[in-house]
Amino acid sequence: MIIDLRSDTVTQPTPGMLEAMHRAPVGDDVFGEDPTINRLEEMAAAMFGMENAIFCPSGTMTNQIAIKCHTQPGDEVICDELSHVYQYEGGGIAFNAGASVRLLQGDRGRINKDLIASSVNNPDDVHKPISRLVVVENTANRGGGSCYEWNDLEEMSSTSKALRLSYHLDGARLFNAIVATGQKAQEYGRIFDSISICLSKGLGAPVGSLLLGKKDFIKKARRVRKAFGGGMRQAGSLAAAGIYALEHHVDRLKTDHQNAKSIEEILKGQSFINGISPVQTNIVIAECDPAFDMKGFIEKMKNHGVKFLAISSNKFRMVTHLNIDADMMNILNEKIKQSL
Ligand SMILES: *Cc1c(COP(=O)(O)O)cnc(C)c1O
Repeated sequence: MIIDLRSDTVTQPTPGMLEAMHRAPVGDDVFGEDPTINRLEEMAAAMFGMENAIFCPSGTMTNQIAIKCHTQPGDEVICDELSHVYQYEGGGIAFNAGASVRLLQGDRGRINKDLIASSVNNPDDVHKPISRLVVVENTANRGGGSCYEWNDLEEMSSTSKALRLSYHLDGARLFNAIVATGQKAQEYGRIFDSISICLSKGLGAPVGSLLLGKKDFIKKARRVRKAFGGGMRQAGSLAAAGIYALEHHVDRLKTDHQNAKSIEEILKGQSFINGISPVQTNIVIAECDPAFDMKGFIEKMKNHGVKFLAISSNKFRMVTHLNIDADMMNILNEKIKQSL
C-alpha cells in the first residue's frame, strides 16, 4: 500500500465519479454547446451567487486569465510573496499579462488591508507602475493551508474598492476554507470581483478549474481562454467529474482536515521535529531539527511506501486528500519509527 501525501492532486477518481463521467452528454464547448460544461458553469456560478463562470483545464489558467483580464501591460499586481500566482505559475504574470508584481510579506501567506494600502502607488507619479489588482489565496498553500479571517477578507474588499483595485481570489482550496470556517460560498461571491476554484485538488476530479465573475468579465475571459489555448471541445466528461465532486466531495473535506490533525499529533511526538505550522485544513508543514538528515528520512519513508515532499532544506509538507483514510494514520506512525 502506498500512502501518498505529496499533494491533494494525486487522487484517483471514485467509482461514482467515473460512472458520472461515462454517462455525461457532451458537445463542442467552444461553440458553447457542451450541455455538461454549461451545467457545471451554471451550478458553480449559482453556488457563489456570481453571474457567470468558465470551465478551464487548470487553476493556473483560471488565475492567469483573471490577471490578464483585470490588468494592462505594465500594471502592478499586489500579492503575498508566497502566493501561487507568483511562485508556481511559471512567471505567468509577466509572460501572459506583461504585468509587474508587488510582493507583500504577510502572515503565513495571508495579507491584510494595511499592507495593501501602504503598497499602492500614486497614480499621478509617472515613475511608478499603476497598481491595479489584489490577489489573495484562501487557503494559502505555502502558508500551510492557513485560512483567512472573514473580517480581513471583507476589509480588503472595501480597501480594494476604495483604491480602485480589482480583487481576485485564488481559491484552489477554497472549499477547504469554507468547510473549516463555515463561511458561505455566497459571501465570497459578494466581496470578490473574480474567484478561481479547483476541482482537481481536494475535490478529487481528474482535471478542471472554474473562473467565476460578472457576465462581461467572463465574456472577456472566454476570448483570453481561447488565446491561451484553453478552449476545449467535448470536455463534458471532465465537467461531469466536477459536478460529481461539487455534489459529493465538499462535506467530506472535514475528514481530510481530521487526518491532517492526526498527522500533526504524530509528528508532534517526534524528537526530530522542531515545529509545525498551525494545522487549519488539509496541509501539514513541519520543520525539522537542522542536525536531522531530512533528505535521508524522506527517502527511507518513500522506500516504506510513504511519499511526501521537502519544501526547503529543513521543512517538509504532508497533504491529506480523498485517498487518505484514518487507518493509514497508524501505518504512518509505524513507518516513521522504521525510518528513523
Ligand atoms: C494548485 C494550485 C493552483 C492551480 O494549480 P494547477 O495545477 O494549475 O491546477 C492555484 N493556486 C493554488 C494556491 C494552488 O495550490
